[in-house]
Amino acid sequence: MRCLARWVLGGFLLALGALPVALYAAGDAAGAADFSQQRARLVATVRAHAAQPGSGAPGGRISPRVLAAMAAVPRHLLVPKRYRRLAYADRPLPIGHGQTISQPYIVALMTELLGAGREDVVLEVGTGSGYQAAVLSGLVRHVYTIEIVAGLARRAAADLARLGYGNVTVRAGDGYRGWPEHAPFDAIMVTAAPKVIPPPLIAQLKPGGRLVMPLEGAFGRQSLMVIEKGADGRIVRRKIIAVRFVPLTRNRR
Ligand code: SAH
Repeated sequence: MRCLARWVLGGFLLALGALPVALYAAGDAAGAADFSQQRARLVATVRAHAAQPGSGAPGGRISPRVLAAMAAVPRHLLVPKRYRRLAYADRPLPIGHGQTISQPYIVALMTELLGAGREDVVLEVGTGSGYQAAVLSGLVRHVYTIEIVAGLARRAAADLARLGYGNVTVRAGDGYRGWPEHAPFDAIMVTAAPKVIPPPLIAQLKPGGRLVMPLEGAFGRQSLMVIEKGADGRIVRRKIIAVRFVPLTRNRR
């Protein structure tokens, strides 16, 4: 009898224990489906934004391969938990250390302007959450990305590895200096705004390569720039649109 009671009690406790797990799992699956719907809507918003006058998108469009890359990245898993429900709004979000994850439209635009191909090796300066690196990861051969805030670099490296982005290498350091060990790069993207185009980045760009970055001008106004290095090494720069990024900071040595 006592044995049966123990068995019943044990079964009850087991069931109790399993219940929250079952609920949690069901909630998680529903959440994942919901997030993928939200992500599809975000991609539609990005496409519509590109079609508007003054969007900066060449020909008013973001190419299908860039949109597909964005549709594949779980942005909600790269933002702090408390901002998850806002992960697919077309807006920047805080990621701690006074930094932000860029607005998805700007990520799409910069990725489009970079025009990197399947075989390209790309440098990103300003890893932040790792979101931009994850988007690039689906489009190119390898992404090297540098983040000056060590805590952010560590978190992004762990998140990207956990999510299976095997072709992204994260390093903590001052990206102003580029990453000479892996240079030259087919393309470089900077996601924080300096006041001058960092000469090491120009030097580490292949002839025929592109650098996409915000640049701070007079009165703190920033412009998104496309800087092209011709086959002869000549530099041509174009302003695309006004933007607002966190400043590119420097390590003092
Ligand atoms: N690309 C990021 C957005 C980053 S915000 C994303 O997808 O989430 C810009 C980031 O640049 C911040 O995390 C900031 O710490 C970093 N940063 C600023 N100056 C830097 C520098 N000199 N080298 C590397 N990273 C820098």
